[in-house]
Amino acid sequence: MNTAENYIKLRQTLPKEVKIIAVSKRQEEYKLQEVYDAGNLVFGENQAQAMKERHEKFPKDIEWHFIGHLQTNKVKYIAPFVHLIHSVDSLSLLTKINNEAKKNDRVIDCLLQIKIAQEATKFGMDEKQTADLLSDDAFANLNNIRIVGVMGMASNTPDEAQIESEFAMLRKCFDNLKTTYFADKDYFKEISAGMSSDYEIAIKQGATMVRIGSTIFGQRNY
Ligand SMILES: *Cc1c(COP(=O)(O)O)cnc(C)c1O
Repeated sequence: MNTAENYIKLRQTLPKEVKIIAVSKRQEEYKLQEVYDAGNLVFGENQAQAMKERHEKFPKDIEWHFIGHLQTNKVKYIAPFVHLIHSVDSLSLLTKINNEAKKNDRVIDCLLQIKIAQEATKFGMDEKQTADLLSDDAFANLNNIRIVGVMGMASNTPDEAQIESEFAMLRKCFDNLKTTYFADKDYFKEISAGMSSDYEIAIKQGATMVRIGSTIFGQRNY
């Protein structure tokens, strides 16, 4: 199997309304080209400078999604072109994204990263922090960002029941936020959940986007 075949097979397997983010971080560029040529226009990266370089090198119809922890001093590298930032976990980061978006005369779409995993290492906010952010007066003044949904990463465990309950928690969080803050906002509709090991469970729990790396590209270079 090559990467193009992996992508095509995955695309055929998943419901067509589920968006695949092909996570190309630390993968060789000829593989990105293969997946692009196979029809995928959506790529995910987790390093701002690497994403900027690839954006410059690759065709301009690609949507670049930022999926990792984002430092405020790196936002400037991706603000001119990023399609969606999946990993917003503080008001200060969101404010920085807003300011850089404004400089570029853009509105940048963002997801709030919700902590659903048991592990202490996973980034993200709990429901209280999320509510505090959305009800802050400063948030109401951010006109160059748009919150279009939530993102979560389940625990790295073979226990599928646990993974399922974590994705169910993300779904519930999405529903609560929708009701409380975004009831009249049609654009608040995305749940980014699921990676190579758990995307089937995520889709059953309502994921609208899955972030798939190794299933498409194989092992990453470290
Ligand atoms: C690397 C990464 C992925 C993809 O992981 P795979 O297991 O290779 O599919 C998805 N989401 C995030 C946030 C990542 O950092």
